[in-house]
Amino acid sequence: MNTAPEHPVRHSKVLIIGSGPAGYTAAIYAARANLAPLLVTGMEPGGQLMITTDVENYPGFADVIQGPWLMEQMKAQAVHMGTVMIIDYINKVDFSARPFKAWGESGALYTADAVILATGAKARWLGLDSEKIFRGRGVSACATCDGFFFKGQEVAIVGGGNTAAEEALFLTNFCSKVTLIHRRDSLKAEKILQDRIFKNPKIEMLWDTAIEEIVGNEKGMTGLRLKNVKTGAEFSLNAQGLFVAIGHDPATDVFRGHLAMDAAGYIATAPDSTATSIPGVFAAGDVADHVYRQAVTAAGMGCMAALEADRFLAAQAG
Ligand code: FAD
Ligand code: NAP
Repeated sequence: MNTAPEHPVRHSKVLIIGSGPAGYTAAIYAARANLAPLLVTGMEPGGQLMITTDVENYPGFADVIQGPWLMEQMKAQAVHMGTVMIIDYINKVDFSARPFKAWGESGALYTADAVILATGAKARWLGLDSEKIFRGRGVSACATCDGFFFKGQEVAIVGGGNTAAEEALFLTNFCSKVTLIHRRDSLKAEKILQDRIFKNPKIEMLWDTAIEEIVGNEKGMTGLRLKNVKTGAEFSLNAQGLFVAIGHDPATDVFRGHLAMDAAGYIATAPDSTATSIPGVFAAGDVADHVYRQAVTAAGMGCMAALEADRFLAAQAG
């Protein structure tokens, strides 16, 4: 059992699971409400913004800021207010009775009077066998992390959203040519990003195109076998790297069966609220939001979750 003496049991009024904008903001508000929150960071402290560079749309900064810097600031603010941060990963929960229980990879058991779920989302993969073979040997889901390794080379990127557009532009800083492969004939990315893409001489668009296979040798990937989805024509593309930017799935596997979710696995919350199907358990950020998925909306939901947790605890006490 996880409650064996060598595994500590840590109780808090509010347990926050996740350290992205939602988790850190919830921590700032919960700490300021004297709830002494305990925040479990997960394997990606700081969340998704740690793997990006320029952030131009987080309000309060007239000049461009860097994602990792923004997250360091949020973390420092949460710690400064009195949040206890713990590096651990929750792999099991029990929300059937209060206090709620969550178990960490470390063996620790966390008990809490209220819980805020802020586990965000994770990168989606194409699901090709060849993608697994070449992952880390040409195939990556993070251009900002791995783009530098492809200096002077030709790379491809698949996707049509903001991430694909931003990463394509970023890759032009290093690569000689960037081919943006999209399955449809128009991008989903914001207009401002589309304009930058179309103006960039290093970026070539491949519309209506699906990746059939990633090809390569023992040294790594060398190219792609592609198919035009309208004509069925197959063709090849030379590329030493492929960046997969086709969206994210909510990180909710560990909560499956413990509270209500929608068909895509996002945690269901009450309208205009972060309340889940379990009273006392709240969900904030990308884990519960398949519509906006922005740092500022995640932070806003984190604020809501902390305020709602505070009200819930006050009602229990009263
Ligand atoms: P996340 O940031 O996903 O954080 C989730 C946290 O949960 C992580 O700390 C993780 O370690 C933790 N976690 C997960 N599972 C567990 C577990 N079982 N136990 C414990 N902890 C766990 N948005 C913008 O507004 N502007 C931008 O410029 C922008 N650029 C982006 C660029 C990229 C490349 C990407 C991928 C996204 C970008 N976004 C941007 C979107 C933005 O990053 C997200 O909307 C935001 O980070 C969501 O915050 P979150 O707190 O909900 O979750
Ligand atoms: P997204 O908006 O969901 O876009 C995913 C793209 O990948 C879509 O174009 C989709 O095609 C394509 N796609 C999905 N599955 C595919 C598959 N199996 N094969 C080929 N293509 C596939 O995801 P995202 O771009 O990662 O963005 C996620 C969220 O973060 C969004 O809310 C976005 O606004 C936000 N974000 C914001 C910024 C910013 O504000 N600067 C930057 C990055 C991300 P279809 O178009 O055909 O559906």
